[in-house]
Amino acid sequence: MSEILRLEGIAASPGIIIGPAFKLRREEWIIRKQKISEAEIPMQIQLFEEALIKTRHEILDLQKRISEDMGKDSAQIFEAHLLVLEDRMLIEEVISRLKTENLTVAYIFQEVLKKYIAVFSRIEDDYLRERVSDINDVGKRILRHLLGKEGRGNLLANLEKRVILVAHDLSPSETAIMHKENICGFVTDVGGKTSHTAIMAKSIEIPAVVGLRQATEMIKNDDLLIVDGSLGLVIVNPDEAMLNSYHQEEDKLKGITQKFSLVKDLPALTPDNYKVTILANIELPEEIPSVKLHGAEGIGLYRTEYFYMNRKDLPSEEEQFVAYSSVAESFSPHPVTIRTLDLGGDKFISQLEIPREMTSFLGWRAIRFCLARPDIFKVQLRAILRASVFGQLRLMYPMISGIGELEQANKILEDCKNELNAEDIPFNKDIKVGTMIELPSAALTADLLARKSDFFSIGTNDLIQYSLAVDRANEKVAYLYEPTHPAVLRMIKNVIEAGHDNNIEVAMCGEMAGDEIMILILLGMGLDVFSVPSLAIPQIKYIIRSVTMEEARQIAHQALTLSTGKEVELYSQNRLRELLK
Ligand code: PEP
Ligand code: MG
Repeated sequence: MSEILRLEGIAASPGIIIGPAFKLRREEWIIRKQKISEAEIPMQIQLFEEALIKTRHEILDLQKRISEDMGKDSAQIFEAHLLVLEDRMLIEEVISRLKTENLTVAYIFQEVLKKYIAVFSRIEDDYLRERVSDINDVGKRILRHLLGKEGRGNLLANLEKRVILVAHDLSPSETAIMHKENICGFVTDVGGKTSHTAIMAKSIEIPAVVGLRQATEMIKNDDLLIVDGSLGLVIVNPDEAMLNSYHQEEDKLKGITQKFSLVKDLPALTPDNYKVTILANIELPEEIPSVKLHGAEGIGLYRTEYFYMNRKDLPSEEEQFVAYSSVAESFSPHPVTIRTLDLGGDKFISQLEIPREMTSFLGWRAIRFCLARPDIFKVQLRAILRASVFGQLRLMYPMISGIGELEQANKILEDCKNELNAEDIPFNKDIKVGTMIELPSAALTADLLARKSDFFSIGTNDLIQYSLAVDRANEKVAYLYEPTHPAVLRMIKNVIEAGHDNNIEVAMCGEMAGDEIMILILLGMGLDVFSVPSLAIPQIKYIIRSVTMEEARQIAHQALTLSTGKEVELYSQNRLRELLK
């Protein structure tokens, strides 16, 4: 009988799932030590040479594409990668060990690679130490050719039975393909509640727990797992009694879901007749049927960057136009809010093809990237404008830091409108253009931004991480990520007031808008639109329909007098409990 383990992590996507574990290992650990005969050595050397050539072609090809798409500077990083490929010491060590150790070239190469990485990691010189990631990147490419695999995506695509994935980390683009595969849940060592991997899990409605730290160490392949994505708990090899109690828990959850779904198609109207709007966040057009089923009154955030992922080229204007117009049409006359490209941070075009400066949340991402690359930005803006005649399409810019960026973005939008006019292509001339409030600088200058925006949408996932200096994807600092922090509440209040003073609608599309603990406070502060993962819609409507606006205002007022996030959380939890009992 295997040992029963209880692992606590971060609740990333709600629901309970029971099933066998499938470990997705990091590439360096999947190569077994395998003996070969003397006669096989020349073939292994040939395999190695071919892998080096293929990797070289791959990098040159990538360098060319990145240089065309993002400029020469971005492609510069591949020069260092090419140098690694020409490193005689590395190549000769692999070949000489191959001739003496009678082991596969993949295994030997991996060993040599590990040694190199260890040596470089210990070097004092910053420049040389930074070469570690170049060696790592190139090494993985060579290994993939040696193993004849296309990477983890392929591994996921060939699963024969339904499994729960156990991984150190998963990228949002890896998560995005899960709904098409035999994966019914996942758990990871790292990650935070509002990382895009967690957000994607909610969208495709599979339970997930992240930030478990030791999941890959403690869980073995085929261990039976209970994943409780609502509590952030994983039970490994549960006994009969635990399984029974979880089956009962599943039934209870079903009962609660049914209670909420009774109101899902009703308006979010308080008993004293104050109405707010409930919209959905989507990442993929495939989510639309589920969004409608959960009772959304439109789309408040369409994260378009997933269009750019899991592919090698950039999406064309035509392709984007077809997708945006079909989403707009399917919700017409309700609003569909397209968020312009927000690449960077934890969202990459592809794991391997991104210049390093874009992978920081503080780096060259979102609107910064779009303003620097109007050629890429304009393709999307033209597609959005063209699609705007098919419904109530609106657009909004991510990561705006102040008036300057908003004006620059609008100038490019104006250029696109002029081009379309000249080409006689129809578009909605009065398309609403909103600003996402995700930076403290934007929240504090909301009065200025409001004068130049048709609406605001508060992106709390980023606003919280930047206000509290807490990386949203890092489990080690997750305890500091507090939506209830007084600083966050004050900023939100400021944004709502600035919006209303200027007669514009204020929406929120960060995960906070779907957090049950926050609903009463946000409602009481006067938030007009809650845009949330579709799963959360019935519950939000239920809560809003249970409280008068007068009570909600009083709750918000009281919450704003408290001095810590914990106090606010406890207070709000108690008020919610009283209300729903
Ligand atoms: C946010 O930051 O709250 C937001 C909605 O954008 P994203 O989660 O995609 O960064
Ligand atoms: Mg954001």
